[in-house]
Amino acid sequence: MKNTKEIISHLKDKGFVYSGSSIYGGLANSWDFGPLGTMLKNNIKDSWKTFFIDQEENIYHLDSSIILNSKVWKSSGHIDKFNDPMIDCKSCKERFRADHLIEEENNINVDSLSFEEQTKMIHKNIKCPNCKASNWTNVRAFELMFKTSSSKTNEDESNLYLRPETAQGVFINFNNVVNTLNAKVPFGIGQVGKAFRNEVTPGNFIFRTKEFEQLELEFFVEEKDANKSFEEYLQKIRNFLEILGLSSKNLKEYKVPKESLAHYSLGTTDFEYKFPFGWGEILGLANRGGFDLENHSKNSNEKMEYFDQANNRRYTPFVIETSMGVERLLFAIVSELLITEKTSDGEREVFKLPFNIAPYKASVLPLTNKIEKEAKDLFKLLLKENIGPINFSKGGSIGKRYRKQDAIGTMFAITYDFDSLKDKMVTIRHRDTMKQERIKIKGIKEYIFNNAR
Ligand code: ATP
Repeated sequence: MKNTKEIISHLKDKGFVYSGSSIYGGLANSWDFGPLGTMLKNNIKDSWKTFFIDQEENIYHLDSSIILNSKVWKSSGHIDKFNDPMIDCKSCKERFRADHLIEEENNINVDSLSFEEQTKMIHKNIKCPNCKASNWTNVRAFELMFKTSSSKTNEDESNLYLRPETAQGVFINFNNVVNTLNAKVPFGIGQVGKAFRNEVTPGNFIFRTKEFEQLELEFFVEEKDANKSFEEYLQKIRNFLEILGLSSKNLKEYKVPKESLAHYSLGTTDFEYKFPFGWGEILGLANRGGFDLENHSKNSNEKMEYFDQANNRRYTPFVIETSMGVERLLFAIVSELLITEKTSDGEREVFKLPFNIAPYKASVLPLTNKIEKEAKDLFKLLLKENIGPINFSKGGSIGKRYRKQDAIGTMFAITYDFDSLKDKMVTIRHRDTMKQERIKIKGIKEYIFNNAR
């Protein structure tokens, strides 16, 4: 596995991820996705939507607002409870997550410790990792939601927040979906969208940023079926991670102990990935019980209940939530699948992306510029064949061009040569095996779909 620095450098060089606002000297922990990174990210999101929503009979899409009425965040518990313990070094002015400092030094779980107890532990035996001083503030709560405001509304309403999770947009639309689509429990609502958190210590490339995208699915079930659904989703998640190309040896399931559960959760299993910097959470599966719908029922003008017509019974469904971050999945995929491989003439960088998530499905390469026009005609023809994005690569030696496609994950390289003019055939090279075959131009699409993995 490459280290984080090598990954960042590769992703920048190939047009996947750039550091944010770089022409103005940058902005800490801000990253922009370049053309190839955008394609990869979109493909991860599309795979998720296909797997978790479109291939299921009872899951619906949603696209709710980023800015919601602030009462939503009061009801959800975010305004009162969504904060991190923070401590500052008075000598060098660096800010740290208190729980991380304690966990790293003492290898204990600090979730059950009060802020006073955390302060005592840090003051007693922990030095600033940055300047080595022992000159700390007290541990304080640091609000994780980004505040914003709306100038035209009255004072009460002007405190608005950027959503820290997409889930609440689903809960507040529960009645809308039930009433307009006649949704019957069990059913689910999934959505993909940006979330924002004012993280105390962002870092590790795109692992922890202040702005990221979530893939969230809220599955509504009767209480008696909640555990069964939880188990089913555990298995679905394992299958999905396999589709993305992540192997089980780099994955770990962590059952969160009772004392560390989030305020809304009755039970959570986190999936962790072995990143170059160590293990880190990529997703969580939680049994949220009736927490959210009950609170919105209490605090809003609507009862968020389900009416079971068959049994003439009203109840609050339980919620099984799958929540993943697109950027963390992308980082895990690159960590696992971008490899340096020995070849007969040295080594090559190859990005072994599954066909479905690779930015380009194939590349067309004219052997020399003399046959660029004919190769371009083939390229244009293939673009209309519904294979997916295809690129055109000219100039430089064919070997170098193959290597370039390997490094961005393109599975098939189609070389158009002088014989192609006469025999209407091309040479097609497979990224992983580097094997080449001569095939008919007419059969390219079929060949690709038969050989894609
Ligand atoms: P962590 O403990 O790492 O802060 P979390 O438990 O707060 O994560 P959740 O609230 O469960 O995270 O969010 C669901 C998913 O959203 C996470 O598993 C992760 O993939 C993603 N995510 C959360 N915070 C961030 C962030 N700051 N940057 C990138 N992705 C994030």
